[in-house]
Amino acid sequence: MRADLHVHSTASDGSLSPSAVAWAARAGGLDLLAICDHDTVAGVREAQAQLPAGLRLIPGIEVSSALGGRELHVLGYNVDCTSPALLSYTTAAAAARAERMRTMVARLQERNIRLSYDDVLSAAEVPPQCIGRPHLARALLNRGVVRTIAEAFERFIGNEAPAYVPVELLAPAEAIDLVHGAGGLAVWAHPRLDIFDREVRGICKLGLDGVECYRPRATPTELQYYEAATRDLALLRTGGSDWHGSWHGPLGDFAVGEDEIAAFLARVS
Ligand code: AMP
Ligand code: MN
Ligand code: MN
Ligand code: MN
Repeated sequence: MRADLHVHSTASDGSLSPSAVAWAARAGGLDLLAICDHDTVAGVREAQAQLPAGLRLIPGIEVSSALGGRELHVLGYNVDCTSPALLSYTTAAAAARAERMRTMVARLQERNIRLSYDDVLSAAEVPPQCIGRPHLARALLNRGVVRTIAEAFERFIGNEAPAYVPVELLAPAEAIDLVHGAGGLAVWAHPRLDIFDREVRGICKLGLDGVECYRPRATPTELQYYEAATRDLALLRTGGSDWHGSWHGPLGDFAVGEDEIAAFLARVS
């Protein structure tokens, strides 16, 4: 069994449509896929409607939460995509993200960059449910303001850059409750070792179910650390590539196996 439990689609900031993601995953030899778009489940239903044979899809979401001004993303697995509370969150998140994007565009305009909100919308291949910084980076590229996406983040919109405005939606406790309210499992996405070490016990008490331990660029030290910590705290282990598009390589190049995520699998079957 080969699984990738963290993949984005055009419902947020990924480059392939949800069904194209599912077909690319199957072509890449995956048996199990979770689409976890930022603050939306709009892609899950579309992927489910045309799922390739042999691929199982777990409905997912990546909830943008923050702790002490730092991003702390919470993955929700096996969420009920018709949950009114979840859908009311995604609607509010879409509006908050649109507003935040307008503020970022205004900050760029203050720096004499000629860019409109519509430029950002048209930089997305299809209108996304959830507008994000990658769309803005692409708009800056299209406008010739930067030569690469990386340059857009470095100079303008990265977490330390002048036009950055955080997505301020939920605290971790609220994100975990949201996922649980929709019947899902709450997993800490791509933790940073220092923040994880400091916060994991507190977050665990909020009802966290698991940690995304297995990632393409995790070092052996990180892996050892997360495996030990999740064993000590009786947390589930998951893994995913956080794939957004072909620049991350082909889907399926990164996969986790049954042994690594056995306890998680038992909870979602
Ligand atoms: P947002 O949720 O709108 O704040 O956008 C965050 C998203 O931007 C992440 O999920 C990544 O897809 C992308 N991203 C963040 N930092 C970088 C970076 N340095 N280079 C390219 N993409 C990035
Ligand atoms: Mn993203
Ligand atoms: Mn994330
Ligand atoms: Mn992600």
